[in-house]
Amino acid sequence: MQTDSALTDIPPASAWDGFRASPASDQLSSAAKYSAISIALPDPCGITRVADGQYIEVNPAFCAMFGLTREQAVGRTSLELGVWANPEQRERLVLALERDGRVDQLSLRARAQGQDIPGLMSAAPVEIEGEACMVFVFHDISGERAARDRLAAAHALLSQAGHMAGLGAWESDARGVLQQWSDACCEVHGVPHGTPPPVDYIETFIAPHCREIMREAVRACLHHGEPWLLDLEVLRADDRTTRWMRAHGEAVREGGYTLAMRGVMQDIDAAYKAEQALREREAVLSLTLEAASLALWDSDLVAGTVTGDAAWHALINMPVQADCPETWRTCLAAVDHDAVYADLMRHAREPAKPFDVVTTVPGANEGKRWVRNLGKIVSWDAQRKPTRMLGVCIDVTDQRQHEMALQRLAHYDALTHLPNRVLMAEQLAEAMARARSSGKLLGVAYLDLDGFKPVNDRFGHAAGDQLLQSTAQRLSSALRPEDCVARLGGDEFAILLPDLETPHDAQRALARLMLNIAAPHCIGDQQVSVTASIGYTLFPRDDADADTLLRHADQAMYLAKQLGRNRFHEFDADQERQTREVRVQLQQLRHALENGQFELYLQPKVDMRLGTVVGAEALARWNHPERGVLGPAAFLPLLEAPELDTGFGAWVVRSGIQLIQRLENAGNPLPISLNIAAPHLQQPGFAAWMGEQLAMCGDAPAGPAALMDLEITETAALFQLETVAQTLRELRALGVTISLDDFGTGYSSLTYLRRLPLNILKIDQSFVRGMMDEAGDLAIVQSVIGLASSFGYQVIAEGVETVDQGHMLLQMGCTLAQGYAIARPMPAADFLAWAARWQAPGSWRTA
Ligand code: C2E
Ligand code: MG
Ligand code: MG
Repeated sequence: MQTDSALTDIPPASAWDGFRASPASDQLSSAAKYSAISIALPDPCGITRVADGQYIEVNPAFCAMFGLTREQAVGRTSLELGVWANPEQRERLVLALERDGRVDQLSLRARAQGQDIPGLMSAAPVEIEGEACMVFVFHDISGERAARDRLAAAHALLSQAGHMAGLGAWESDARGVLQQWSDACCEVHGVPHGTPPPVDYIETFIAPHCREIMREAVRACLHHGEPWLLDLEVLRADDRTTRWMRAHGEAVREGGYTLAMRGVMQDIDAAYKAEQALREREAVLSLTLEAASLALWDSDLVAGTVTGDAAWHALINMPVQADCPETWRTCLAAVDHDAVYADLMRHAREPAKPFDVVTTVPGANEGKRWVRNLGKIVSWDAQRKPTRMLGVCIDVTDQRQHEMALQRLAHYDALTHLPNRVLMAEQLAEAMARARSSGKLLGVAYLDLDGFKPVNDRFGHAAGDQLLQSTAQRLSSALRPEDCVARLGGDEFAILLPDLETPHDAQRALARLMLNIAAPHCIGDQQVSVTASIGYTLFPRDDADADTLLRHADQAMYLAKQLGRNRFHEFDADQERQTREVRVQLQQLRHALENGQFELYLQPKVDMRLGTVVGAEALARWNHPERGVLGPAAFLPLLEAPELDTGFGAWVVRSGIQLIQRLENAGNPLPISLNIAAPHLQQPGFAAWMGEQLAMCGDAPAGPAALMDLEITETAALFQLETVAQTLRELRALGVTISLDDFGTGYSSLTYLRRLPLNILKIDQSFVRGMMDEAGDLAIVQSVIGLASSFGYQVIAEGVETVDQGHMLLQMGCTLAQGYAIARPMPAADFLAWAARWQAPGSWRTA
């Protein structure tokens, strides 16, 4: 049956009946043979007329390829059927047939079902019914070509990969002679692509030192099927340099016989050389570590374990088998835990700065050794938590001990081994901070030996040194562990007594110290005794800085010395404050004196009955730039400092003389009283000095001496009666008169009065004030007046504040007076105008 519809269908077997051999016949006709072959042939074949290409016969494969039935093909030409890719294809076929008499695998392209089909055409001439024909077979090679293209592509890919990886493939025969190798192999060996491998490969290309190894490996592979893998040094053909390759070989075996050997080779030169360099570096590093006595450790920070090399185990005294399990803490002294942890955290925060901690390890003879650990975190987890740290450590015990020796030198006194001033200052600062936070007292004491110098002078310096050492030892042993004693130099020591509950605790501790020191010291074969003077202060009651605390203790120590030595004395902060204030005021006074801020005011002395001005008392005033006019009460108490008192006294005298002269020059020669302080008067040569002062301006008519009165107090003469009496005599010889001021308030006795050369008694104002109401005061006033007249002295009452007081004094026989009832002290410039105006109250004149 014939199917027209499906062009690709193979025609049914009945269609080929003409070719079918007759089963009855033994002898097949050549046509039948052809028919049988052509039906079975998978390639298209047929018979065609040479002249025009008309098909005489075609086989089913032909019909299938071109999608035709036999009937459609036979009788038509190839050009009509369009079986060629183009007409030249047929021309080439005919040409080849005519030229060669036959066609053998001529490459031609057919066209079937819209596609070009490459193929190989074979044809032989045949004469059919007298016409030149050819039998042809067309072998479609499109499938093979595609396979070949794929193969070529795969090959190209492989060789490119080989080139990139430096990985080549090779094959040898059963004797080990290389038969082929890939281009990548050529590259390794420095020969052009495609160069066939040499017969004597090993001799040609393998470096001498590798040859025997390779021969042996190849032999074992060929004979016993053992695969091999070798790193071999290759001598390159082009530049005669060497290159390392890794070669791998395997036998191809069948039935116990080796047929071939195949393998790969790879250029590992760069990696090999890098590894070599790394190995060299490692060797150098390990030598360095060894030479530097460094040990290596590796810590798993998550598990908390640490492992190390043998040197590390030796360093931390741990047997090599025992690593540091659980918590690296087991390899650390407890005191080092915090430091290690803190620096690990610090290093995790700033990885650029390595972990660096010195830890301690128990050493021989109950000593300890110090180990410096330097590390670097080398890995972190996803949360950036450090997971691993590598490091080295080194024994720094010698260095530490050296440092400590230097520390000792810098902080300890070489003779007594006590802390020196530097260390004491540090400890004082710490103790002050602790005292502030604890609220307890800190005692700071300054100790100086009494009588150390004589020991030194008498027994020599060596003995002195021994005494200091012995003292140091006793001080240390008398103190609590938390106390500190330091040698400041010479025979001076500082003592810190922290954590005192009460001042009494300090006193107890110091008393114990004194006792300890006072016991005789054995110096050579001598027994020597010394005592100590100690000054101390208590912080923060004495809330000063460290230097000042020491200075206060030192000042108190001097007081202890002054108070008779062999005692302790507490620094008095109030006293110190007062002293400081006085010092400041004295400074101001000195300044005031130099800058003319003092002025002498005048207070008139009058004869109440006559209503006349008989003189004036000069009273000092300080024109203070800020506080205004200040009376003597504001500055006299400060003038105890002798040099200032005489300085001030000298100013009073000079100013007084000038006043006298000025008044005299103005036509009013009036006696002026000057107050002279006792110490000034008692100065040796006071009268002579006064003489000089008066002589310097002795050109006034009466001379200032005659108008000068000096007021002295009873106390001035109390203790040096004879000397003062002599001074007064000398003064009187100069023409000066003497008043005894504030009379009645002191210890005046008749003897006293009798032995002093005086001119005037001044009744103290306190009696004047009291005499109106107090019988005692009145009696005193009366007796002073009586006494004066019996000794032949003048008498003057001071502090007369009321007219009545004046009246009463007049009635008692005292006519001279001074007081607010008459006038207050006034600037000297106002004095003459006042004197011209003044009139005595009427009641006085008539009394
Ligand atoms: P003084 O020598 O007894 O001087 C008399 C003091 O009594 C003066 O005080 C005077 O102002 C005050 N006075 C006078 N009349 C009355 C009165 O009626 N009622 C009251 N309540 N007071 C009156 P001033 O000036 O304050 O001097 C006090 C003391 O200072 C003087 O006592 C004298 O001892 C001393 N002084 C004053 N000037 C000098 C001086 O230049 N040199 C020395 N060494 N001492 C001086
Ligand atoms: Mg006076
Ligand atoms: Mg007086």
